[in-house]
Amino acid sequence: MFKNIKKQFQDEILKIKESGMYKDEKIIEGMQGTEIKVEGKTFLNFCANNYLGLASSRELINVAKKNLDNYGFGMASVRFICGNSTVHKDLENEISKFFGTSDALLYTSCFDANAGLFEAILKEGDAVLSDELNHASIVDGVRLCKADRFIYKHSDMQDLEDKLKSLGQRNKILIASDGVFSMDGDTAKVVLLCDLAEKYRTMLMIDDSHASGVLGQSGRGSVEGLMDRVDILTSTFGKALGGAGGGFTTGRKEIIEYLKQKSRTSLFSNNLPPMIAGAALYILSNFDKEFNSLRQKLIENTKYFRDQMQSLDFNLGGDGSHPITPVMLFDEKLTTDMAQKLFLNGIYVRGFTYPVVPKGKARIRIQLSSSHTKEQIDKAIEIFAKIGKEMGVIK
Ligand SMILES: *Cc1c(COP(=O)(O)O)cnc(C)c1O
Repeated sequence: MFKNIKKQFQDEILKIKESGMYKDEKIIEGMQGTEIKVEGKTFLNFCANNYLGLASSRELINVAKKNLDNYGFGMASVRFICGNSTVHKDLENEISKFFGTSDALLYTSCFDANAGLFEAILKEGDAVLSDELNHASIVDGVRLCKADRFIYKHSDMQDLEDKLKSLGQRNKILIASDGVFSMDGDTAKVVLLCDLAEKYRTMLMIDDSHASGVLGQSGRGSVEGLMDRVDILTSTFGKALGGAGGGFTTGRKEIIEYLKQKSRTSLFSNNLPPMIAGAALYILSNFDKEFNSLRQKLIENTKYFRDQMQSLDFNLGGDGSHPITPVMLFDEKLTTDMAQKLFLNGIYVRGFTYPVVPKGKARIRIQLSSSHTKEQIDKAIEIFAKIGKEMGVIK
């Protein structure tokens, strides 16, 4: 049977390759880190979400091992049947304490948290307003729900307000935004979003996956100091707060209680492996005294890299408030070629081209980590300068 269909897949794959959008995977040998091994060679890694360098932290490996011994390999159940243990409950309580909310619900990823949110809490006739650059998991989550959807221009509060004005009478309205947008590293205007949500009596949801553990004086993210005004926060343990995985929804207790009854990605999918829940619990409960200080190094590294690259005349996107640092090249092919040359010179970065970013906005996205050393950053800058000159990107 498959013989007839096989050709269709082969043709589609060929088309992806011809358009230059084929993603070839590089396989890391050993652990994630600022220095990685690929095909036996060593590379400096500047494209992980490993903002606080915790992905291969010895301390966390030991904490995870201890939890593995205490709680076993896995739950072999969804949460509401028999998949919830004390470590999961303790983690949910800690999430609420950390962010200043009244309850929380774990998922195996933030993608699942978002996929299980909108359909559960919004009904036909309700409305959801979503930033045009929101993460794919919000896009998909919104697609699953029956509410009317409105896409507002990126961080454009006027466009959002115009759309809010046009909604008429609705039972429920929800504004949904990333806290930090992944392609530019720009932060949402969370205060203004809160203002509009209050003025038009809507709910507000922020996905802080790139911001939790990264932004705010105490690492609470783009919502730091605002959680009494934000109704729903989703985020991940797969970036700054560990790197292994796991996600959560936190916020108003009535919403969380309702999600526990209705959210399909919670009801029909296994709870987090307890060793990961235990490590996440350790990170949150020790964040202020142990991990928040890593943010200082992250900020310094980001500033140092940006300053040096700017003085070389590279065109950088973003506003410098986040370790996501886009090196704007605009041209699709130039971007792919330059990323490849950097790789051949030992710097592992990724080029982002259409349709991941808009046409004509191709870029190489750099992400700094607190665990990058000055020598590693200097090395990257030196190679960027060399290849940038060779390719005519800078003089
Ligand atoms: C990375 C990311 C996610 C997905 O997180 P996972 O836990 O890996 O599923 C969701 N939303 C945003 C905004 C992200 O940046």
